[in-house]
Amino acid sequence: MNREEMERQRRRRKARIKKKKRQARIRGVVLLIVIVVLFAGAFHKLKSLAGNGASGVGGNQIEWFVLKNMDALNPKRAYTPQEIGNLTNNIINDRIEIRLAKGENHITRASDYAYDAGEISDIIQGKREYTGKKKIAFLTFDDGPNHKITPQILDTLKEKEAHATFFVVGKSVGEKNRDVLLRELSDGHAIALHSYSHDYHKLYPGRVANAAAVEEEAKKTQGALQDILGKNFHSGVWRYPGGHMSWQGLEAADSKLKDLGISWIDWNALTGDAEPASRRPTTAPGLVEFLKKSMPKNDDASVIVILMHDAETKQLSADALPHVIDALRDDGYSFGILK
Ligand SMILES: [Zn+2]
Repeated sequence: MNREEMERQRRRRKARIKKKKRQARIRGVVLLIVIVVLFAGAFHKLKSLAGNGASGVGGNQIEWFVLKNMDALNPKRAYTPQEIGNLTNNIINDRIEIRLAKGENHITRASDYAYDAGEISDIIQGKREYTGKKKIAFLTFDDGPNHKITPQILDTLKEKEAHATFFVVGKSVGEKNRDVLLRELSDGHAIALHSYSHDYHKLYPGRVANAAAVEEEAKKTQGALQDILGKNFHSGVWRYPGGHMSWQGLEAADSKLKDLGISWIDWNALTGDAEPASRRPTTAPGLVEFLKKSMPKNDDASVIVILMHDAETKQLSADALPHVIDALRDDGYSFGILK
């Protein structure tokens, strides 16, 4: 082999090494692009799943929550809507933001079963005729939210695929119950006002309504809810502590509420969970029995608004709820919420 040939071989070797290095660089870049694309795809899929929410309802609905922080999720895998739903219940507190349409007390996908509280109030008072064909039951829970009973109620409602309206007390609306309030909305329920203080003496001194106090407490409760749920939140639903039926001189208070875009509503059926101890049911079947006896009969029974409580002491209400829901379903009712 002469020098010339050796030199040629050396150059060929050098060229081969250079080519291999170039190929390795290209492979590296391609691999990086593939990783980025896969990651972006997983991220996008995750976001769209999250956008659809636990219900799996998508399309033209507004996005009802966004994941603010993706750290809790594994971007390498896709999640089912059910998984996202379970996950959001756990991480809801600092990572989820509820988006509501302006002036709503429920998420958009709950609109299908949301009814005007003023109209329902008129119907159960016999001031307006119900022209619908469906039998509708409104499960209403007063005196929450809290971490003891409210989550149990929410679990049962989810399991039974039923919905309810939560009449919250303003003084319990704050950071400490933020997760519960967010879950009430994200699970498709409605939030309503039940005064700020729940103090009978303040709201109805001498059993006569103080319109200014009612107005102030409605505003304060609405404001506390907006601090947690965003400025779009507005509940047009109010229940007087003790019930409108229990007090006098409410005309001025009613009209103050009306000026704020709020209708009051009582109930026409109850489980007896806040009756005096002598009358209060002590077992779940007893509570269902109490409800059935309290319900209006015949034609008037197409629309029922059921008074229940999710105060911290109401364990029996939580225990009885599955039976209440089953009994109402057996009677042909579907469940609505109040807006
Ligand atoms: Zn109450």
